[in-house]
Amino acid sequence: MRTPIVAGNWKLNGTRASARSLAQSIVDGLSQLHDALRVIVCPTFVHLGEVAEVTAGTPLALGAQDAADQQSGAFTGEVAAPMLAEYGCRYVIIGHSERRHVYGESDTLTAAKYAAVQAAGLTPIYCVGETLEERESGTTQSVVARQLRAVRDLLGDTCFADAVIAYEPVWAIGTGRTASPEQAQDVHSFIRGEVPDAQSLSILYGGSVKPGNAGELFAMPDIDGGLIGGAALDAADFLAICAATRMEQ
Ligand code: PEP
Repeated sequence: MRTPIVAGNWKLNGTRASARSLAQSIVDGLSQLHDALRVIVCPTFVHLGEVAEVTAGTPLALGAQDAADQQSGAFTGEVAAPMLAEYGCRYVIIGHSERRHVYGESDTLTAAKYAAVQAAGLTPIYCVGETLEERESGTTQSVVARQLRAVRDLLGDTCFADAVIAYEPVWAIGTGRTASPEQAQDVHSFIRGEVPDAQSLSILYGGSVKPGNAGELFAMPDIDGGLIGGAALDAADFLAICAATRMEQ
């Protein structure tokens, strides 16, 4: 039995007031949804305190969008996983395609960040996915396998036991172009085959998920929920996506 999860990645958006109000609207709407669903919001670092005040004592879980590969020290501009834990974060997105492709973060750095998050007792939401060029050249599976292997080589076979994986094809993020349910299912099933003991691993799909396409994506047998960017900034859209998850995974 896998936990259905919907996580909102708010990226570089919002103000203290709008972050608080968005979180409050989601908390208010969650009471209408089934209990088995886990819902997470990931605001910017500087909005974590505001949002934590709203989510405390509610079913809405708090996550961050990234974390340093180090726990402390002379690393200007970084935010360490234990600091995020202090704010009540339980999840951290690691390896988002914008970190990998806009900021050039390598598999090695990404794996080290993953290790730092687990060492702090937090759950990584580990993003993998291919670019359009990689898909068109038929290397989707080898790219995803390489991204998974980077973590496994560092931390061993049990590294994904308490994690969440998000398959996010780079060409579908923020583009309005979604992978078809069949394309996404193929890669999700491949990921489940690559990870030891993956029957209980929640694998989320991310890439232009909207209320209108969430249901058909979440109906696929290996898609256990979504990592949502743009549509996570609108409480009604985000809650509609949450409502589209299947109760039985
Ligand atoms: C994301 O940023 O993880 C994402 C999936 O974005 P969007 O939903 O906007 O494509």
